[in-house]
Amino acid sequence: MFEEQLARNMARRISDAGYRWVIDTKRNYHLIQIPEDADYEDIRKVLQAVSEVHGVKWVSPSVWFPASEFRREDHTPDYELIKKTTLKLADAYYKPDAKFAIKANRSEKQYTIPSDEIERWLGTEVINHTKWDKVNLRNPDRAFRIRIYTRDLFIIPERYDGPGGLPVNSAGHVLSLLSGGFDSPIASWLMARRGCSVDFIHFTASHPHPELFENSKMDRLAQWLSRFTLQSRLFLVPYTYFDMTMPDHSRPKALMVFRRFMSRTAEHLAEEIGAKALVTGDSLSQVASQTLDNLVANYDAISMPVLQPLIGYNKDDIVELSRQIGSYDLSVEPYKDCCSLIARNPEIKAKAHLLQEYEEEWIPDYDKLIEQSLGDALCVEYRCGKKLNTYTNTLVVEE
Ligand code: ATP
Ligand code: MG
Repeated sequence: MFEEQLARNMARRISDAGYRWVIDTKRNYHLIQIPEDADYEDIRKVLQAVSEVHGVKWVSPSVWFPASEFRREDHTPDYELIKKTTLKLADAYYKPDAKFAIKANRSEKQYTIPSDEIERWLGTEVINHTKWDKVNLRNPDRAFRIRIYTRDLFIIPERYDGPGGLPVNSAGHVLSLLSGGFDSPIASWLMARRGCSVDFIHFTASHPHPELFENSKMDRLAQWLSRFTLQSRLFLVPYTYFDMTMPDHSRPKALMVFRRFMSRTAEHLAEEIGAKALVTGDSLSQVASQTLDNLVANYDAISMPVLQPLIGYNKDDIVELSRQIGSYDLSVEPYKDCCSLIARNPEIKAKAHLLQEYEEEWIPDYDKLIEQSLGDALCVEYRCGKKLNTYTNTLVVEE
């Protein structure tokens, strides 16, 4: 199931990049066939797209031979073919002063000589017949990989790491609370890497307008995330109704009452769209609203599970992760986060039952508040890094 989903997801990214290349799913790998008329620019684009697909450990352009071409009558591999192909690639990839290595791997041991023998033999051939003259087995500038399977032979001159993990759409549907900072985009990315399909909800200080939203920080963030989540909706929910019902935002309890409003509204939407859990970028004690007491008091307001993949991360780790994954440049852009508007004098030891008392006093009709807020939401659809449609009525949007 995972492998079929992975193949579908790769096909999606490849076709979205404008190509219809055939994917052949094997036992331990997927073969993406490069058509004869493709040039290196095409290959680069597909490599880039595939290397972003969750579930992909690594991706390589490689020279491939089926058994009919590389197995001799007695089933042994055609070593002459392996040598010829490796030397040709070694010539093409030659760089002065660079060090190389041959890394061989065989899955079938009956007819093929041991990997280390292949490595020594081919390494010597490369030194004797090409301009390469320096070997570094541990840390080569260029590794030529030979993979001999029963039915396939690959000779691999390049390799790119993918994110690993599991293919999106293999783990169920979640709704991620996305803010403009570092944490929640990474949290969303991590849940997608464990196979979740992810939609986003973002609370805005004013009523969302398609024109004002166009190319805003949140627009670009969701667009970027959808390269990995493949298909996502961003629900922009105004908290203007919340603002109107609250008597005084500077009260110490206001921040936590607001947090619970976000949680409740998100839970409501999640149920509406069939998401099974919420996701947040919470990290224990990172800011006042994320003390253990406050997290407990916040999520006490809802019954849906809240997944917090960053809960035990240090801020440094999160920022480092955002550099690696590529969200850093977007996240550092200034953004007027709602919480900076409200949190003046935050409390750090909130108690759910006390918050509830305030809510009963300040927000007499909670259901109506949620209904109004979601009723004025904007829903923006993204696919594979591109924006598709914008809807003004979220409830019309089909699953
Ligand atoms: P981030 O870096 O994700 O902005 P943060 O460290 O600023 O997080 P908080 O502002 O306390 O932390 O928010 C905690 C979590 O609550 C966020 O990670 C996000 O999941 C959610 N959240 C905060 N603000 C919003 C918002 N305006 N809309 C949707 N979710 C939000
Ligand atoms: Mg924030």
